[in-house]
Amino acid sequence: MQTLLLWLFYISSFYAFIPGMISRIFGYRVFRKGTGRNEFALTFDDGPDPRFTPLLLDLLKKYDAKATFFVVGSNAERYPELIRRIHEEGHLIGIHNYVHKTNWLMRPATVRRQIQHTNDIIYNIIGERSTYYRPPWGIVNLFDISKRRQVEIVLWSVMFGDWREKLGAQRLTEKMLARLNPGEVMLLHDSGTTLGADPDAPENMLVALELTLQEAQRRGLRSIRVDDMIKMEKSPIRHLSFGKRVIVGLWLAWEQVFQVMFQLKTINPADPFMHFRMRKYKGEPVELGDGTLLSKGDKVIELHIDNRQLFELGIHSRSSAQLAIRMIRRMEKGLPMLAEVIAKDVNLAQAKALYGVSMINRGPEKFGFSVHDLPDGIFARSTKFYLKILLSVIHPDGGARLKERSEVLVPKLILMPVSELLKKMNQQLPHDERSVRKRKPQQEEALSLNDSHTEVELPGATVTN
Ligand SMILES: [Zn+2]
Repeated sequence: MQTLLLWLFYISSFYAFIPGMISRIFGYRVFRKGTGRNEFALTFDDGPDPRFTPLLLDLLKKYDAKATFFVVGSNAERYPELIRRIHEEGHLIGIHNYVHKTNWLMRPATVRRQIQHTNDIIYNIIGERSTYYRPPWGIVNLFDISKRRQVEIVLWSVMFGDWREKLGAQRLTEKMLARLNPGEVMLLHDSGTTLGADPDAPENMLVALELTLQEAQRRGLRSIRVDDMIKMEKSPIRHLSFGKRVIVGLWLAWEQVFQVMFQLKTINPADPFMHFRMRKYKGEPVELGDGTLLSKGDKVIELHIDNRQLFELGIHSRSSAQLAIRMIRRMEKGLPMLAEVIAKDVNLAQAKALYGVSMINRGPEKFGFSVHDLPDGIFARSTKFYLKILLSVIHPDGGARLKERSEVLVPKLILMPVSELLKKMNQQLPHDERSVRKRKPQQEEALSLNDSHTEVELPGATVTN
């Protein structure tokens, strides 16, 4: 029965999350925002325009700002000298279709032709092809993203409605200044001839832009091209292989379902590294470090390490030693807070032990955990399998380490009496005996209600280390 429930859980969570996952995984290919320290990115759509683009270029030159122009192919064809000037003055040229039409109304092949045609026009003028594409109105369809990296899709992190004249230069300036931050990708328009835009709106844009550039100068911020901003990005996920990205996507989606379904609580919401839930122990009797026995039905506090945080740590660690040290530091911070939470909560204080499953067996002892073998069975085997995948993705040495020392990486049960934790952390059990006794029937009820959820053992969700 448990196995069946387990597989149902696998299947249902995967199925429901597939659409979200796809955009998540492929979403890494769409650039929206950078992580610059002193850099932001100005981007201008719908040009070139004979009236406004020259003024804009003068302004950018005056403040030594670099920008990205997503040009409409038919406009580029009509005003090649503007394309040449944009290029010669050090700005980046991107593609914004041949005509300003949404991709939703076009077949994938038509979109491809629009991009190709515009790219040919750009190539004929400046002798270079563009690899950056912004779909009109930012509307991407799945075919755009599933195409093999012909172009990189660039959207924006902030837009201001600058295509409407009645917004006014002052209001536009306020809006722009409010979002003048490092990493921001600002969307503006240097043409008012597109459907839905006001012909004179770019006049306001130029006024607001000058004030924004002045403020940027004061604050030591500069505008750079989108390609330079992408290069600065060192998002580690970009370096992962496609297969690994799929695993990471699945895994992070899993985390979300799990947290909701099993009502995990976060020890410290400001630093969401560890979560926990109360449950009943279901395994064979185990002797805890202090001589007491943990038996079936005893309440335990199950620990979970946040997968996203773990992934971030793993991927930013140079070696396994560094990863271990970082995890130990985070646990050192988390355990005293957990002790505090328990000391304030009569319900939690009834738990006999802290409980977790760990793949790396040396660290936990440091904190006072005892390490035990998992009883063999579907749970142990599926946990082992899950943790192996997990480790091969997040671990700095990846699969290499697994091959080398697979015998070391056996999931084990780690346990610590709650009283031991409280003692170590200088906390006391809440000792209002009467309130403990009075509340007890209610809690039993609450727990039995939860049992339908807690019945299933989930492999690997209890990674503690
Ligand atoms: Zn546009």
